[in-house]
Amino acid sequence: MPEGDTIFRAATVLRRHLAGQVVTGFHIDAPRVSAAVREDEIVGSTVKAVESNGKHLFIHFTTPHQAVLHTHMKMSGSWHVYRPGERWWEPESEARVVIRTANVVAPCFHPPIVELLAANELGLHRVVGRLGPDIIRDDFDMDEAIRRLREKQDRDIATALLDQSVISGIGNVFKVEALFLARTSPWAVVRDLTDEQLRAIVGQARKLIRLNRDGGDRRTRFGLDPADRMWVDERAGLACHVCGSVVQQGWHPGEDVRKSWYCATCQNVKPEQVYRAAPVPVSRRPHRRERL
Ligand SMILES: [Zn+2]
Repeated sequence: MPEGDTIFRAATVLRRHLAGQVVTGFHIDAPRVSAAVREDEIVGSTVKAVESNGKHLFIHFTTPHQAVLHTHMKMSGSWHVYRPGERWWEPESEARVVIRTANVVAPCFHPPIVELLAANELGLHRVVGRLGPDIIRDDFDMDEAIRRLREKQDRDIATALLDQSVISGIGNVFKVEALFLARTSPWAVVRDLTDEQLRAIVGQARKLIRLNRDGGDRRTRFGLDPADRMWVDERAGLACHVCGSVVQQGWHPGEDVRKSWYCATCQNVKPEQVYRAAPVPVSRRPHRRERL
């Protein structure tokens, strides 16, 4: 599943191949193209910048209205980069976006969100406009992240960490691993945690995501055995690497049904707080299984 580290890497690769290059071909199959931007203006423009914010990827073009292509990968999306004429890994008919330059072809497959906007529309955007500070960036604003965590204090920390309007870029894997390393119960209520504890949790998540941003198998443990890449994620029934207790899993209430893996001993998890079965989602909107 793409998390902030995957999108950051995709942006790095696309930037290397596209930034500064003139677009020679452009195809988009999107439900939303802004009235201010014309698709045919993209051809002949230059790719000005490629950036990521959490799980969102933005490609800026030098058109009259400074067009921005916004893609969000959710569970399924991916960008590829090929040489012209090279065979694609997926059928061309499946590509929702294709950007061509003299040297490369970059198609995007299965992104649930594709939009072409004018730069001045980005800030008003319903999702992008309210994204929290991006955890992977060098200039990540920890104070702002803590301030946003405190805005909705009555929910559990695991749910709060996945809210992209609080902090952008944390997915389920780094959530459970950071909570384990910070020895905090995923069901601890934000109000009951000190600023120091919140900083420690967010700091762990940031460290893990930055360690993973250059690629390879995602991992949070760096021992000799490559099979032991995680502390608790997807390890239900196995022994905790620290104390030997059995790692367990539980659910969180809310609109987006989410699971956490944890060590009850190391993280001082109170059994009565844990949902043992998936709660019925509050909202039944079928396309909103994952937040953002
Ligand atoms: Zn343990």
